Amino acid sequence: MDVNTKLYGLMGHPVGHSVSPALQNELIRLYGLNAVYLAWDVETAGLEEAVKGGKSLGIGGFNVTVPHKKNVIPYLKDIDEAARKLGSVNTLKYTPEGYVGYNTDLPGLMRAFEYDGVSFEGRNAVLIGAGGAANAALGAILESGANRVLIINRTMERAEELKQRFEAYYPAVRMDCVSSQTAAVKLMREETDKWNVLQATSVGMYPDTEAAAVTEEAFYEMVDCGVDIIYNPEKTLFMKKVEAAGGTAYNGLKMLLFQGVRSFEIWNELKVDDKYTEQLLDIMRGAMKR
Ligand code: NAP
Repeated sequence: MDVNTKLYGLMGHPVGHSVSPALQNELIRLYGLNAVYLAWDVETAGLEEAVKGGKSLGIGGFNVTVPHKKNVIPYLKDIDEAARKLGSVNTLKYTPEGYVGYNTDLPGLMRAFEYDGVSFEGRNAVLIGAGGAANAALGAILESGANRVLIINRTMERAEELKQRFEAYYPAVRMDCVSSQTAAVKLMREETDKWNVLQATSVGMYPDTEAAAVTEEAFYEMVDCGVDIIYNPEKTLFMKKVEAAGGTAYNGLKMLLFQGVRSFEIWNELKVDDKYTEQLLDIMRGAMKR
């Protein structure tokens, strides 16, 4: 580190569990950059000052995580199209006029689909969940060309809100919301093709690893491919159920990786080579607290 070292970092509350510093500092090392990435625990009351202070200090960029992804937007100079669609920002890039906000969760998830060979194009899709992660997940499913989407969430109002956010952008896609698993199974049976599913609730996350948001066995019989947004544990009960019924399953570690990779690419205006993917995944696994 010297007088030219550029500073980047994560703002959120809490940030103690984050693997972003391990990932970003490995990317910095791989690309031989004179930079360092830290993590700052910033409460909502201090967010505006943190953004202003970052600009005054010339901090090159931030990742922004829970609970600031929406409420950081008023402090930014501009936001990109994905951030506008989702109403959520997770990456800030310094410009002399102020930070520009980007959403890399959506392109990160799409890149994870591509890496794993998962395609939603022309497919029937189920989204389980309607929280923050489900917002990016629905964006990615729709952007990938899903034909029909069924949103299952415990709280119906949140599912309806999520649907409303996207229906104007994708008017040709039929979107249904249900809160009951039985109702979901009934709707799924309307289609002869199997379904691709994105599990975006926190159910099944460590340490509660014996839980799954959907427990109906009939549901899993209609699943072709299931992606769980959870990455800890690496194989969730949802994934086990998909596989036991004959489908293929993936976890959320690559989404986490590629959203960070995309942030790094935006800050440094370069393209990260896919040859580093497995190495970076290992760094993240090593940094994960269990
Ligand atoms: P969130 O905004 O709090 O939303 C939680 C979601 O889980 C809601 O849909 C909630 O339903 C549902 N849920 C929670 N407990 C439930 C229960 N007992 N039964 C049924 N549904 C339940 O959280 P989030 O930020 O979206 O995070 C969700 C998960 O995604 C977390 O595990 C997080 O680690 C993971 N994540 C992964 C990545 C990645 O890069 N792979 C990125 C972000 C988040 P209600 O609406 O009914 O409350």
